[in-house]
Amino acid sequence: MFPIIDDLLSRFQSRLDTRALVIGHHAMEEGGLQALQDHLPKGLWLVAVDDNTWEAAGADVAAHLDGASLTWERYDVVPEADGGDPICTDDRIAAFEEALKASKATAAIAVGAGTINDIVKMASHNAGVPMACVGTAPSMNGYTSGIAAVLSDGVKTTNPCKAPAVIIADVDVMANAPYRMICSGLGDLMSKPVSNADWQLSAWLTGSFHSDEAMEIIEAGAAMLKDVAPLLPDRDREAVAGLTASLMLSGLAMSVAGSSSPASGGEHLISHFIDMTAIAFDEPHDFHGCQVGVGTITSAFLYEKLQALDPDTIDIDARVDALLPWDDYEALLRERFGPLFDAVVTHARKAYPTPEDLRVRLTTLKEGWPELKTRVGRTLQTSQAIEDELHSAKCPLRFSDLGVETDRARRSIVHSKDIRNRYTILHLAWELGHLDHWADEALQRLA
Ligand SMILES: [Zn+2]
Repeated sequence: MFPIIDDLLSRFQSRLDTRALVIGHHAMEEGGLQALQDHLPKGLWLVAVDDNTWEAAGADVAAHLDGASLTWERYDVVPEADGGDPICTDDRIAAFEEALKASKATAAIAVGAGTINDIVKMASHNAGVPMACVGTAPSMNGYTSGIAAVLSDGVKTTNPCKAPAVIIADVDVMANAPYRMICSGLGDLMSKPVSNADWQLSAWLTGSFHSDEAMEIIEAGAAMLKDVAPLLPDRDREAVAGLTASLMLSGLAMSVAGSSSPASGGEHLISHFIDMTAIAFDEPHDFHGCQVGVGTITSAFLYEKLQALDPDTIDIDARVDALLPWDDYEALLRERFGPLFDAVVTHARKAYPTPEDLRVRLTTLKEGWPELKTRVGRTLQTSQAIEDELHSAKCPLRFSDLGVETDRARRSIVHSKDIRNRYTILHLAWELGHLDHWADEALQRLA
């Protein structure tokens, strides 16, 4: 259905684990079943489902496996103890790894979206067993990525692992997913203008790695998203196929780059902060991409503030003088993060600048100010344009739509930079001394 995806799989074969990606109507009949047989070793396949994904696609997969006389066993990913949706934690991963060993499975198949895919990806990787994924919702870009989002000691981390050898996405299954999950997929992709700007910013100011090849894939994915948003509320099949393909390309770009940087910047930190605090303090949260969408509007607003700044007002000496010694900052973090402190501090430590780092960075910024617009302006969109597109798909637009009240929303903007060592607009705004009041303005903008 998407020749460009097949082209990319063969062009980047040496860097990708994924051998076949089948998106279409009746995807199991139209190549999916064959791809499983071609790319998974014979023997027993352990099929991970929950009750919802069994109904959405699992039973159909099982019927096809039976029809081809393939051997499989069902593995149920059960709800959390409080009845909530399963979370990808170290314990869940260890349990599936144990099941793989106990059943002597030669391969695993994840039937589901983010969580089940991540559990199976990570456990199969640890066990050295190949895996495939049958998607049930176009809710995030992780299907094709070589990383799993794991809640480890209370911190949302992204761990490297093998991507699925085969990914199957039946458009009719995807289109029938809960609508909030479709919103989540769009929100995850809407981060592109700001996550790419963050990636450029980081390459410019910290010398971090940047990949033109990954950018090319991201751009191809973005092209597939054109005009899709307003058609999603009607679950238009072509639009859902475009969204699904675009998500797959976004994940492939991360695999080719060997990092989530092409698709994850400050807007993702805001979402991760919401997830972490939701679990640690029993607060509300939403689907990943729904949170990312709101984070993206926020981040785009921060870029508007940055671009409107007069570079002559950047007082580099004053900023360097104001930088707290690490020990003092660490004490602040202990206060802010409470029970999450131990898990956060190692990431925060790596991201914390030395006075010299800060001076070099701010000097580069101030002296190269006209370059800022060419560097980040290439991909940026206004917060209004992003909001309009999300609105056309009836996606959440405000922190309150996510169940996140103002104080926690504010903390997600001003404190989330410490949960990961990746330079973003949040870090730069903080280094300039503007993050606090820009966050207040962003919250007014989003009121
Ligand atoms: Zn994401």
